[in-house]
Amino acid sequence: MIFGSLYPDIPIPKQPLTEFVLQRAINLADKPALIEGLTNRIITYKQLVESIRKIACSLAARGFSKGDVLAIYSPNIPEYAIAFHAVATLGGIITTVNPSYTAEELAYQLNDAGAKHLITIPDLVGQALEAIGHSKVEEVFVFGEAAGATRFSVLLEGEGEIPKVQINPQEDLVALLYSSGTTGMPKGVMHTHHSFVANFHQFQNCEPVSKADAIIGVLPFFHAYGLVMLNYSLACGATVVTMPRFDLEAFVSLIEKHKITRIHIVPPILLALAKQPIVDKYDLSSLRVLTSGAAPLSHQLIEECEQRLTNCVVKQAYGTTETFVTTYTPDERDKIKPGSVGQCLPHVECQIVNVDTQQPLGFNQSGELWVRGPQIMKGYLNNPDATASTINRDGWYHTGDIVYIDEDDYFYIVDRIKELIKCNGYSIAPAELEAVLLSHPAVADACVVKSPHPSSGEVPKAFVVLKAAATAQEIMEFVAGQVAPHKMIRRLEFVDKIPKSPSGKILRRILAQQELTNIKAA
Ligand code: AMP
Repeated sequence: MIFGSLYPDIPIPKQPLTEFVLQRAINLADKPALIEGLTNRIITYKQLVESIRKIACSLAARGFSKGDVLAIYSPNIPEYAIAFHAVATLGGIITTVNPSYTAEELAYQLNDAGAKHLITIPDLVGQALEAIGHSKVEEVFVFGEAAGATRFSVLLEGEGEIPKVQINPQEDLVALLYSSGTTGMPKGVMHTHHSFVANFHQFQNCEPVSKADAIIGVLPFFHAYGLVMLNYSLACGATVVTMPRFDLEAFVSLIEKHKITRIHIVPPILLALAKQPIVDKYDLSSLRVLTSGAAPLSHQLIEECEQRLTNCVVKQAYGTTETFVTTYTPDERDKIKPGSVGQCLPHVECQIVNVDTQQPLGFNQSGELWVRGPQIMKGYLNNPDATASTINRDGWYHTGDIVYIDEDDYFYIVDRIKELIKCNGYSIAPAELEAVLLSHPAVADACVVKSPHPSSGEVPKAFVVLKAAATAQEIMEFVAGQVAPHKMIRRLEFVDKIPKSPSGKILRRILAQQELTNIKAA
């Protein structure tokens, strides 16, 4: 059975992304497009357009051309949007890197994406220079100033008109976001201009942002959810207040100061809003709509949050890096169902299939969610096998999420059968951590699974087989030295062997189930 959207299909223009995002900018002129939360530095819509033009001209003069890849390795700052669109308007491709990545993690992504340029912040220049050693990166730019990198501001001296570039929105890539998908190492998720523009049109009725809105850019712009919401908010003429990292007091004080109207967050932020006493010190009455996504959220927490933010509707959305925003809930309280992530967006088709037989299921039956629609990725970069195993011949993307749909077409996320671990809303690929564990001289074999955690949602837990003496602490510290903080192994158990299939594939599900049972029993 195919579940379609209850919303009528809408026309989606075939437009390059930057053209769409800046559609209202000329009329908005001196209205703040972006405000740096910590410093109050403002970039107006007029300055946004001008800066994008200048940077694009400078990059073109340096030989940057259509199809070239530029990596942004930075926390959320207003210049993120400028750099992104300068590249997009030249037909270039942006790969967004988690700023908490180590030099090794950055190097992996730079190489995989084939990045020729890199933009970072002064604090990360050391790691950036270390990472580019064995990559194709020709020049490192820095927002600010640091030895070894070209100042981004030099690019603002660019003159003239942006070179004319033919962009085919449905074919040409604009972003390479990294996700491990259902299995294996992180892969470059290829998104075209059209997948962004389509997604904005698809959720515009559920998320009717206008120029009267002020939004906090707290979700990392390197992640699909943060990047989509940044660009959508700008396209709607709203003001985006950027935050480089989440800090509860700074967050609530920015909501009060800028009279923030809508926020897009992940469950750990919602948990803090619902429970932390400090929230009561601030006036959050401007908040009208809070949308949570990226990870599971209990209905009880939603209720607690709504009791605290009395004027604010709390709703959920669901999506993945590969499918962008897929289900959503309108703003009206009476259209929100407890525990649901909403309904299919226009043009989205879904199937729920039995995991073993792959037979389609009906209402109220749990199975794997398959999705089809114009916002779905083109595939994984240079990885036809991984693409073919997640998008079938009929165009269905296999999400690896277990869901059900009720008779009113509302979706509920039940479980995740893919390997992915979600810690504080960040995705972690077990295969990556297992590779690091196996490089430890005392480790013979390893398997990493999710382990439930009260505030982070899930944390990575390692099952390790030793071949020489080592303590759990030593091994966890060894891993911590090589990965971003959210990927640190927080729990470790020694075992005699890792369960494997006859073909040698790790049977993660067995250990994941065992972990869940043990945690519940504890
Ligand atoms: P990512 O590709 O990092 O965005 O992770 C996508 C995954 O996050 C999905 O496949 C789900 O497992 C999970 N996810 C996203 N949104 C939700 C949600 N609203 N509730 C539960 N899980 C979610």
